[in-house]
Amino acid sequence: MPIVPLYGHQVLRRRLADAVARDALPPSLLLHGPRGIGKQRFALWLGQRLLCSGTGERPCGVCTSCRYAVALTHPDLRWFFPRPRLGDADATPQDIRDDYADAIADRVAASGLYAPASGSEAIFVATVRTVVQMSAYTPAIAKRKVFVLGDAERMVPQEGADAAANAFLKLLEEPPVDTTIILTSSEPGALLPTVRSRVAAFRVSALPEADVRAFLADPAVSTVLGVGAPATPSDDRVRLAAGAPGVLIGAAGRGEALGAARELLAAARAGPIDWSRSAFKLGGTKARGFFADVLDALTVLLHQRLREAVTRADPAAADWSARGIDAVERAKARAAGNVSPQLLAASLARALGEPPG
Ligand SMILES: [Zn+2]
Repeated sequence: MPIVPLYGHQVLRRRLADAVARDALPPSLLLHGPRGIGKQRFALWLGQRLLCSGTGERPCGVCTSCRYAVALTHPDLRWFFPRPRLGDADATPQDIRDDYADAIADRVAASGLYAPASGSEAIFVATVRTVVQMSAYTPAIAKRKVFVLGDAERMVPQEGADAAANAFLKLLEEPPVDTTIILTSSEPGALLPTVRSRVAAFRVSALPEADVRAFLADPAVSTVLGVGAPATPSDDRVRLAAGAPGVLIGAAGRGEALGAARELLAAARAGPIDWSRSAFKLGGTKARGFFADVLDALTVLLHQRLREAVTRADPAAADWSARGIDAVERAKARAAGNVSPQLLAASLARALGEPPG
């Protein structure tokens, strides 16, 4: 089943396809621009164009490479993006490849659409190491190979893994002649300067309204958004997308996290929290992602409470909010490690449960 096609971006498509035709595409690229405009989809399109056996401006869409590329099964087009940390700090390249195989299967099932990465997801060093390793292989079926690294600012270079970080910088600096690396980022300012200086940057723009409408009218998109199959997307939805329709995906999930955070704060102020009945009983990576979203929502709500408390000159409530913000930040730092959401939720509950004043 092919993923949803790339909508819009015609000018940049022509520009980069022209570079491919002249064999002048930089080997390491950065596509940057607002979140939700299809930068990773664009990177996959460019990868498809590079691997396509045709020579037209667009990928031909019918050759073996094209068919594999749009099904996300092309062995020479590899897509990496933030993932929850694998339990073992020393995840092997095989663990990483298995994890991405699962993640890609999930994305294929959703027609290539996905919600923004949650706070605890990153491109951890084991993944970087895997990319470096795979870059040395000969292409499996095409003449070239392409690596797409989405949300590249979420690359975690530390953990005493200088060797992996240096090997990756060397790869960016001078990829093998048959290899193209495409990074994407909505926050290019957060990229390591050593990464930024080694890539040719291209700005991807928000989509004009006609492209947003075309994207939203795609039946696969309406299915994933859970809005049936409207031939004509509502004006509200088009306005909400504001040129970046990807932001609509997963918005329902973020609403759920906000609801959970509100409920938890209300319970905390009323007395000890019964966390056992909460969603954190769920196991696995879904709970971890949801927990990270709840922590983000708690931060937003507590800052709001703090502002309100200051406005009405209520020092006890302001102090409680400030302590809550600290506790949430500590929980976020620990959530980036391998601490279980249940454990974190319990200690957060104790911190928030202390009465104000
Ligand atoms: Zn083709």
